[in-house]
Amino acid sequence: MRKRPRRKRAKRSARGHDRQRAQQLSREVRELYPPGAAGSDPDAEWHAGLEEESGARPRRGGRPPPASQSAPPADDSPAAGPELRGRVVAIASGSCRIAAESRDLDGVLPSALARDQRAAVAVGDEVAFAAHGASAYRVRRVLPRRTTLSRPDPHNPRLERVIAANIDVAVHVASVVEPPLRPALIDRYLIAIDRGGAEALICVNKIDLLPDAAERRRLLERLACYRDLAPAILPTSALTGEGLDALRAHLAGKTAVFVGHSGVGKSSLLNALDPDLDAATAGVAGSRRSGRHTTTGASLYHLSGDIRVIDTPGIREFGLWQLSPEQLRAFFPDFDRHASRCRFNDCSHSHEPDCGVRAAGEAGDLPRARFETYLRILASLKTGE
Ligand code: GDP
Ligand code: ZN
Repeated sequence: MRKRPRRKRAKRSARGHDRQRAQQLSREVRELYPPGAAGSDPDAEWHAGLEEESGARPRRGGRPPPASQSAPPADDSPAAGPELRGRVVAIASGSCRIAAESRDLDGVLPSALARDQRAAVAVGDEVAFAAHGASAYRVRRVLPRRTTLSRPDPHNPRLERVIAANIDVAVHVASVVEPPLRPALIDRYLIAIDRGGAEALICVNKIDLLPDAAERRRLLERLACYRDLAPAILPTSALTGEGLDALRAHLAGKTAVFVGHSGVGKSSLLNALDPDLDAATAGVAGSRRSGRHTTTGASLYHLSGDIRVIDTPGIREFGLWQLSPEQLRAFFPDFDRHASRCRFNDCSHSHEPDCGVRAAGEAGDLPRARFETYLRILASLKTGE
């Protein structure tokens, strides 16, 4: 999709040198940590790391890969070289592309990761890997994640699928019109972003279609209730460039992911931030993204201005993965001061008598739309949608 590859492949001579160093270090490591010593099982280490950091449950053995999977034969012999560190920038079946210190490398995923790669390894993950054979690299384990952006598996909502890892900011893009602004969707996105630990930012895009200043003010007032969950609410226009400097300033030095419904202008904004990115916008999708089928979709790109973006085509929405009603309440901190007037401490603000939050919603002390969104999400959690 991107026209110019960011980094050239490693030259053979450099790899030969790497290999010699790798072999030497490998001998030293084997002396220090003879086979069978505690902690020498890379899979066990990986499981430990994942469990500790993300709360995800380790999946041991058991499930065979789907029959249709055309993964390259997994090579689980111990990797030979010294341990290197890098960041996953794209994933394909059984393998991934890793941005290491000065170049991108192709890495093979060990079977434990390949088997469950939609949860076990994601674009943005930091990985420990090592040279493996003459010209290959093998991932040893995924390092603890700082943040994630997840969604439920479309076929099994009980399973978490990690869309992107280690993102600093998730930009929720909404448009003022075409499609119209739907605050109820903003709530859902912000909750999903907040749960994964990333900072949220709202882009109210296509602001050029709202030239009237009073109308703009009214719109931004409607969104003021999101300030607790998204510290920055930026009116932007990919068409006129309005707000793009502010957006760039927010993203400089960070890794971001853009989420939001189809047609709101995510690709247009990315292209406006860096015309070299050449993200497919409406109308040209497919033609420019040929080759995409070889990966699971998400890719990490470096934009000008020291901005890294994980582009996630095809993932236009993501639900709320296994959220309890108690956790949901925590994402509505603006309800707290009214909740002190609820008769019950654990009031869900839905059916209980003497509910301070509902009273505030009815009296207009709390944006009615926000209260209604809360009730809708609460109902959807109960029905498991
Ligand atoms: P995506 O599906 O979120 O990636 O949306 P696209 O970037 O493909 O944009 C959808 C449509 O909205 C395209 O026709 C764009 O030209 C148009 N569009 C995107 N951003 C803006 C904007 O800021 N102003 C206006 N007027 N149109 C825009
Ligand atoms: Zn209540």
